[in-house]
Amino acid sequence: MADSIRKVCVIGSGTMGAGIAAQVANAGVPVLLLDIVPKDGADRDAIAKGAVAKMLKTDPAPFMSKRAAKLVETGNIDDHLGRVAECDWVVEAIVERLDIKQSLYAKLEEVKKPGTAVSSNTSTIPLERLVEGRSDQFKRDFLITHFFNPPRYMRLLEIVTGPATDEALARKVEDFADRALGKRVIRAKDTPGFIANRLGTYWLAIAVNAAMDLGVSIEEADQIGGSPMGVPKTGIFALIDLVGVDLMPLLSKSLSSTLPAGDPYFDTVRPMPLVDRMIADGFTGRKGKGGFYKLEKGADGKRTKFALDLSTGEYRPERKPEKLPGKADRDLAALVALPGKAGDYAWTILGHVLSYAAKLVGEAADDIVAIDDAMKLGYNWKFGPFELIDKLGPGKLAERLAAEGRPVPALLKAAGTNPFYRVENGKRQYLAADGSYRDVVRAEGVVLLEDIKRHSEPLLRNASASLWDVGDGVVVLEFTSKMNSFDEEIIKLIQQAIPLVKAQFKALVVYNEGSNFSAGANLGLALFAVNIAAWSEIDKLIAGGQAAFKALKYAPFPVVAAPAGLALGGGCEICLNADAIQAHAETYIGLVECGVGLVPGWGGNGEMLDRWQKAKAMPRGPMPAVAKVFQTVSTATVAKSAAEAKEHLFLRETDGITMNRDRLLADAKAKALALADGYTPPEPPVFRLPGESGRVGLGLAVKDFQKKGMATAYDGVVSDRLAEVLTGGEADLVDTVTEEQLLRLERKAFLASVKDPRTQARVEHMLTTGKPLRN
Ligand code: NAD
Repeated sequence: MADSIRKVCVIGSGTMGAGIAAQVANAGVPVLLLDIVPKDGADRDAIAKGAVAKMLKTDPAPFMSKRAAKLVETGNIDDHLGRVAECDWVVEAIVERLDIKQSLYAKLEEVKKPGTAVSSNTSTIPLERLVEGRSDQFKRDFLITHFFNPPRYMRLLEIVTGPATDEALARKVEDFADRALGKRVIRAKDTPGFIANRLGTYWLAIAVNAAMDLGVSIEEADQIGGSPMGVPKTGIFALIDLVGVDLMPLLSKSLSSTLPAGDPYFDTVRPMPLVDRMIADGFTGRKGKGGFYKLEKGADGKRTKFALDLSTGEYRPERKPEKLPGKADRDLAALVALPGKAGDYAWTILGHVLSYAAKLVGEAADDIVAIDDAMKLGYNWKFGPFELIDKLGPGKLAERLAAEGRPVPALLKAAGTNPFYRVENGKRQYLAADGSYRDVVRAEGVVLLEDIKRHSEPLLRNASASLWDVGDGVVVLEFTSKMNSFDEEIIKLIQQAIPLVKAQFKALVVYNEGSNFSAGANLGLALFAVNIAAWSEIDKLIAGGQAAFKALKYAPFPVVAAPAGLALGGGCEICLNADAIQAHAETYIGLVECGVGLVPGWGGNGEMLDRWQKAKAMPRGPMPAVAKVFQTVSTATVAKSAAEAKEHLFLRETDGITMNRDRLLADAKAKALALADGYTPPEPPVFRLPGESGRVGLGLAVKDFQKKGMATAYDGVVSDRLAEVLTGGEADLVDTVTEEQLLRLERKAFLASVKDPRTQARVEHMLTTGKPLRN
């Protein structure tokens, strides 16, 4: 595309600039990262270089792969600013000071080409001030792109344009941010704090003040203000610890100096001696010595969690509050109706925050959808404020506000008892400011199963899976079990789907919209079967899974797997058995069975062997591929991104990666349709495996790990079972092993493992603690 963005320059390599540069590189686009020349030292690029070096050690990683890191070129603004002429977009992410930003823009104006977009990542400075004194051309090319920290993982991008901004240029940046950087772009108005931080800062201020006023402890505040409201379980105070206690006065100062007089935010501003003291003493949260919570190591080495008593300002051991009574932990109306301070606290938060959200419609955002999306993506709320109002009842909220003599926002009055969202003719609609309902419109090209499900019935459905017609001859196989884990129902549905797709459709996509594609086999069910020694049931499940996955592989239509989030164990194996994968960039895929004392049992071993045997640049002979797969599987390797998954060959070079989660289904569907034209199923692979001698060789490597303390005794046993499969069992070096034979070996090794009490102990430990047992 002639007018697409092919190179980006990011100026300022601090927290945000470095992270934005990394995300551009993750998209495969070269980026020039500039910072100032350090006052001392010979290397004039040292600051930007240091930022990249630091990112390579940061966890969670800003880069999706080492290859991406190589796309970042570093420099400084004194020597290299002229190079912005090579770039199609310049992102400014330097210190939050108007004078410094303005002086940089003056220099930029001299060197940039007309039509090159310039955007600021400012959190607080109005666009109108930023472009003061600049040329008309600069104003046409200028906008605000407000990323959230950390830029790789936070999906929200707020974009603000000015009256002079060229709309086509803004759309070009928006499209790049959406498709290449994977962001959900929300247009915000040029008002202080834009949408998410304006409401988010108000929310935290209200919640902190109310906890102090009502005598609610920080643990109680986090309990009431956390999951019952669909807020991450960090709630209020643990969230402040996470983002930094020192940010509170900064945000407050910035909003206080920019918001128009009379804004309800001013009612929340008050002296905070406790917070001031915490910051002065270095208690700035998780990055400091602790915050509202802190962990302390006792003499016995055990860590104890302490919580700050808001009334005395002293730490005391953490006190877990009792469970909220009745339905209060899942029903907002019940929560605010609780007698005493719990109900008062919940109501104080919701009454204020939801009213403030209503006030922001028209002022900070065009509609309620923008505000809901901003809070869901920028603060990880499960529900936006207007979805929360619907849960509470718009009429009830207005009634209680009025009864307390408080103002009822105009939008709430206009809604009356109508909900802010409704479904009409299978379409989700929202209530607009004029009282009419309008369709919630997705960005162009976005296809979501959530929307399809609103207006159709599944082709097939059972307790754990469904099959949907998603149009153009493509069906989606959706998992619906807990954590999308595999069980017999899913396998049954796969077998039922195959003849149906064959008769009536062109292709099948394995996809769902859970936060994780699949966490693997249902270990709980497996353990139950073990406890009653239902070995034949377990064998049936393994054989059934193998048969179903191979039936998908050899079906007369293409199968595309479209994972996002975790794709572990069986979740990985169904992807490996597909004709192609279209993965969300944030896919964490791996064969983790050995971690719980099992071996992959659904064809994963053969598929991985086949991939490595066919890999270019592999040395000759059967052993190198076997050793590679053994290393990957015995250590339960999980790729930390789709790009990294390609390095491990969980994904093939030809498999696709989608940056924007919202576009995954559309991309997977397109891939499936492209394959459907003249499709022929793959030929079964034939393996040349090293047999017994190879197994001995792998065993020696494991012994070495054990000597170094990196593998336990039982790791050795499990690894040996894996080695037996990967080397072809009894096979001799000259024999070839068929896929069918390898599957049989896999089943045997799986059954041997599952019968072993040491595996059972691992599985049980994993189920109860969520952590691996190193027995
Ligand atoms: P930071 O302090 O981590 O980094 C700022 C960087 O800018 C430093 O590396 C500094 O050396 C460099 N710099 C200063 N003057 C410069 C100049 N004239 N030319 C080039 N580089 C210069 O700051 P940050 O947290 O990354 O914030 C950057 C911008 O992003 C600010 O506008 C801030 O408001 C905004 N922002 C921050 C966050 C956040 O969570 N930190 C979130 C959204 C937006």
